[in-house]
Amino acid sequence: MAETILQGIPVSTGISVGRAFFLNRGHIHNMPRQTIPVEELDKEVSRLEQAFQRALEELERIQTRVPSELMEHARIIDSHIMMLQDPKLLESTKDYIRRMQLNAEWALEKSVEDIESVFRTLEDAYIRERIQDVRVVAGRVQQHLWGGTNSGIKSIHSRVILLAHDLSPADIVELEVGKIMAFATVTGGKTSHSGILARALQIPAIVGVAELEDFIQDGQLIIIDGLQGRIYVEPDEEELSEFTDLKYQFEDYQARIIRSSHLPAETIDGYQVKVFANIELLEEISSVLGNGGEGIGLYRTEYSYLNRINMPDEEQLLDEYRDLASMIHPGKMVIRTLDVGADKFISHFGPLDEANPALGLRAIRFCLHHQDLFRVQLRAILRASVHENISLMFPMISGLGELLRVKAFMGSVQAELKKQGLKYNPKMPVGIMIELPSAMLTADILAGEVDFFSIGTNDLIQYSLGIDRTNSHVSYLYQPLHPALVRMIKYVVDAGHRAGIEVSLCGEMAADPYCIPVLMGMQVDCLSMNPQAIPVTKHIIRQASMEDCKDLLKQVLASRTVSRNNKLVKDSIFRQHPHELMFYSSLLDEGY
Ligand code: PEP
Ligand code: MG
Repeated sequence: MAETILQGIPVSTGISVGRAFFLNRGHIHNMPRQTIPVEELDKEVSRLEQAFQRALEELERIQTRVPSELMEHARIIDSHIMMLQDPKLLESTKDYIRRMQLNAEWALEKSVEDIESVFRTLEDAYIRERIQDVRVVAGRVQQHLWGGTNSGIKSIHSRVILLAHDLSPADIVELEVGKIMAFATVTGGKTSHSGILARALQIPAIVGVAELEDFIQDGQLIIIDGLQGRIYVEPDEEELSEFTDLKYQFEDYQARIIRSSHLPAETIDGYQVKVFANIELLEEISSVLGNGGEGIGLYRTEYSYLNRINMPDEEQLLDEYRDLASMIHPGKMVIRTLDVGADKFISHFGPLDEANPALGLRAIRFCLHHQDLFRVQLRAILRASVHENISLMFPMISGLGELLRVKAFMGSVQAELKKQGLKYNPKMPVGIMIELPSAMLTADILAGEVDFFSIGTNDLIQYSLGIDRTNSHVSYLYQPLHPALVRMIKYVVDAGHRAGIEVSLCGEMAADPYCIPVLMGMQVDCLSMNPQAIPVTKHIIRQASMEDCKDLLKQVLASRTVSRNNKLVKDSIFRQHPHELMFYSSLLDEGY
């Protein structure tokens, strides 16, 4: 048996066996606190100056290597360079060295703590938030003070499994994919930057491993099981050979299903469903096309606003949306307006002071509150809509009144464009996400006002079962096949179809191999998911029959418990794919 087995959230599938390499940044409390003799203070100050200089040179080097598609996300590097060039941090640290005879590492920590205490008292949330950047910059200098030997990404010489507390945008730019076999981080959820990157790079990854730093040492042999979200530390021979086998089988399996992923998702009895992709970054488009995605069912536009100081302007957004639309053409692309708040903050606004952020100023509410910001995005989307494959979608709509207010606002933006002689497509399809129970129960009313629905089960589960989707303590209750959920989804699909509009599903559930036949039974028109999941999804659909799916749905609708539903769908998949179950990762939890 392995020394330890750690559990996290699998965000990118696959298996990797290799040596652990910790990206050991910002761990000041591991560093010794020393008193520097008076005669050596000058030397300590020049050691500090050199570390600042090296950190600066390092960032400037990284800046020149930023691939164009990551440019937007790498802007934060500019601000870090500016911080290193600003003499204040350096001067106050030198002062600590001289006054308190502190070693440079601890003197820098003291300076950062001082800045932190000033920042905490500031009213402006945006400025308050900048302390995170000061920490990251100081961490980079610390690394050079400490020797800068084995903890930076650039010092990786052989293929390793990268472990980190978190991965910053600068780290992401520095990654040389060829050297990283897999990675795991302490922080992060399914939609964190590190998870997105892992899927884009197609390497196994696990996030949210709380005990990562406590149980793994640099250089230890570990297995990353990106199928189950487990890390095996110092596995025994039996585990090693078991996972090596599984890795080859998985790779074989993937190659096989990718070969057929360009075929339509059609059941053996001729029912066809669209399989689209959810994306967050422009660079994921190649993965969408390579995995057989037929369009983009959800473009999470908020990622272009994160990790940057200045908000993107209309022209930048217009370019971004146009580029994506032409790359996916003739496939369709659904642009969702900003969904920030809750766990996603725009640096410009900083975290809001809310007791329950998931129930607060999020998504459409945030946009209606910050209308200038919303107007810029809507203008860009409308102007991009002359590419006729673009649709628009609003998140977190709670009811008809709110929807009408949003539509009126959009009407005023359209009028503004018209007055300025700027073109847009007045017939661009406009849809909404159904992700609040109130929207779900009024779906029949809302359907008359929009061109399509997209069911966001990630939030619909959160808000209807009362479970914070990022809270690991209640994740056992996060059950997509709760009878309430199954009824809700069916209700929305039927309401949409009665009104003659298309209904998609774009939550993680859409890619869950066990849930797909149930969703098919409801005759959902489109399933939208992370690009990596497309081949498996199409494979399952192509082996299924609509008749069986409807039969399964009937049984699920008649059942009274989650556990019965989970058993029904598992038995059904087992009958169809007995040898493939080990490759299927699922949201379904055992035993509830
Ligand atoms: C959802 O809520 O299901 C969804 C797809 O949106 P997001 O995960 O971005 O909240
Ligand atoms: Mg959502």
